[in-house]
Amino acid sequence: MAGKWADAVVTISRRGADRIRAGHVWVYRSDVVSADGANPGALVTVQEERTKGNRASRPLGSALYSTASEIAVRILSRGPITNLDQVLRGRIRDAIAYRERYVQNSNAYRVIFSEGDFLPGLIVDRYNDVLSMQVLTQAMDSEGVRQAVISELTTGLNPAAVVDRVDARVRRLEQLPEKESGLVYVGGGGIRDEGVVPDVHVREGERGSFIAAPSAAGRVWTPAATQPLTNPDSCSTEFQMNGLRFLYEALGTQKTGAFLDQRENYAAAAQYARGEALDVFCYQGGFALHLARVCEKVTGVDSSRPALETADKNASINGKEIEWIEANAFDLLRDYSDAGQQYDCIVLDPPAFAKSKRDLPTALRGYKELNLRALKMLRTGGILATCSCSYHVSVADLLETLQSAAQDSHRIVRILENRGAAKDHPNVVGIPETAYLKCLMVLVS
Ligand code: SAH
Repeated sequence: MAGKWADAVVTISRRGADRIRAGHVWVYRSDVVSADGANPGALVTVQEERTKGNRASRPLGSALYSTASEIAVRILSRGPITNLDQVLRGRIRDAIAYRERYVQNSNAYRVIFSEGDFLPGLIVDRYNDVLSMQVLTQAMDSEGVRQAVISELTTGLNPAAVVDRVDARVRRLEQLPEKESGLVYVGGGGIRDEGVVPDVHVREGERGSFIAAPSAAGRVWTPAATQPLTNPDSCSTEFQMNGLRFLYEALGTQKTGAFLDQRENYAAAAQYARGEALDVFCYQGGFALHLARVCEKVTGVDSSRPALETADKNASINGKEIEWIEANAFDLLRDYSDAGQQYDCIVLDPPAFAKSKRDLPTALRGYKELNLRALKMLRTGGILATCSCSYHVSVADLLETLQSAAQDSHRIVRILENRGAAKDHPNVVGIPETAYLKCLMVLVS
């Protein structure tokens, strides 16, 4: 065998190899020709299938393998990897340095964005002094990798706590054992900003000690667990972005979290907004709070009561008066537009309507309906911030939808800004999935 780097070799089709050569890092299972001896989460060497006229010799790269996912292979490096630990640690340091350089006015941001940081299968968010990590693949779930990740993150950021946020569905898909979310590290909290009251409900412990994750396996990290949690049900803090304060609770019943990808778009929307504003799909009030700085009246709409309860607390710690309405956005927009209600600014930030390509036509009908209603309700000179976080809906699709809505509502729409996710969600050319969020700021007349 030519140029074998890791113990196991995964052979892929020409189509899969072309994709990798074009800059992507995924190989779908349908492009895997053979993966003999590749264990769940193994570091593997990826090579192209030999065919007549294609006698590829050099491996394509080193990758992490999943025996369960449709994405069978995720390339980590185009060259050999002799020490996985070292590579992961280096990538984490690079990711932290990137945020130090490009994140402004916020102590909440995505520290690690999976493929966007060449750490496929790992997501880490910082909320002031609490780090929330999410493991999405077999490889990232291995005990050794988790330890290296936590150790490097805590060395680099010195958080008060690291929480493992478990997505049960993802674990099932990756055929990983069931597990609960929980605290995996308690530390000194050196990154906490001044003026924020600590509320990490864990017993003060040795700085930098690893603690037992309340996992099904009951594993204890090394160095071994030293202290039980006094209150493992909650891990809360307060973070700030663009000078506004937000509550965060990592665990427990009132779980929060933020759509950090919209951080820069909040500030952009506030640059254009004025008058009366309507934030549709407001969640915990990210846009609404920013709009309340410049608008006379702000209303936020969401179907989730717990989200609105947090939104209301967020408004009050910032001294803002915002009206919150619990409603189905489609019903409310229909009723309001039929009643002739008018606004100067409307934000549309719905959940992903197209989870797969198959959903695209239905999703586009949903976006069209929302945008049409919003355009009808905007006063002349009004601002619409219209978003889509569906990867399968392209910017071109969203623009076409907007054009069709403009046509039906007899409005003129000018694009002020064509935006994406904040820079802490790096968008890598060649990996289009890293550019999933679209946010158009438009002027309506
Ligand atoms: N703009 C928010 C993020 C929105 S996420 C922010 O920047 O933080 C999408 C939100 O849509 C969620 O809060 C969800 O509760 C809400 N939602 C989903 N379907 C809805 C519906 N039919 N009507 C109203 N809200 C809905």
